[in-house]
Amino acid sequence: MLNIVLFGPPGAGKGTQSQKLIDKYNLVHLSTGDILRSEIASGTKLGMQAKELMDNGLLVPDDLVIGMIRNKLEAHASASGFIFDGFPRTVAQAEALDQLLFTQKTQISAMVALEVDDKELENRLLLRGQTSGRVDDANTEIIRKRIEEYNTKTAPVASFYQAQGKFKKINGIGSIDGIFSCICDVADNI
Ligand code: AMP
Repeated sequence: MLNIVLFGPPGAGKGTQSQKLIDKYNLVHLSTGDILRSEIASGTKLGMQAKELMDNGLLVPDDLVIGMIRNKLEAHASASGFIFDGFPRTVAQAEALDQLLFTQKTQISAMVALEVDDKELENRLLLRGQTSGRVDDANTEIIRKRIEEYNTKTAPVASFYQAQGKFKKINGIGSIDGIFSCICDVADNI
């Protein structure tokens, strides 16, 4: 199985690159942000619990997202692999993911980290906000909050995978196809 954690701050290009990866390698895309937005759209209890935190650029509690991922892994038990996009975002989530994959007799193959500086992220997210309809892309204050959440809670997840020899970093500034080809180099050499 090919199980890739696509890592990086909000606006790094994870969604765009995930789409290309699932097409090329026939993987299942698990984006916790997308799953949460669809829970909100359906008006579920989980969606209601997450909405205010998301609108304010804060992470939702670990147990909620870990439960979501557990359900999705079980629902796709015969998949040839997964792209984890926007998950894990805390070390506790990374530990839980290792455990969940272990019970399915598999593991993370690599973590690919897209590196983009904060100013570029802010510009990209504000631009995306003009069309995404996402409350959390709409103003600079919330965007900065999301980047701060990333820097304090999510960035340490890189060390977790580094300790397992699975961390690969890639420059996230450049053409979409150029960045994709760097990610494929990683995926093809696992
Ligand atoms: P994203 O679409 O990945 O940018 O996520 C949008 C928002 O959903 C984040 O700012 C968080 O509020 C929430 N979220 C998504 N994934 C996670 C996660 N793995 N852990 C906690 N909160 C998350």
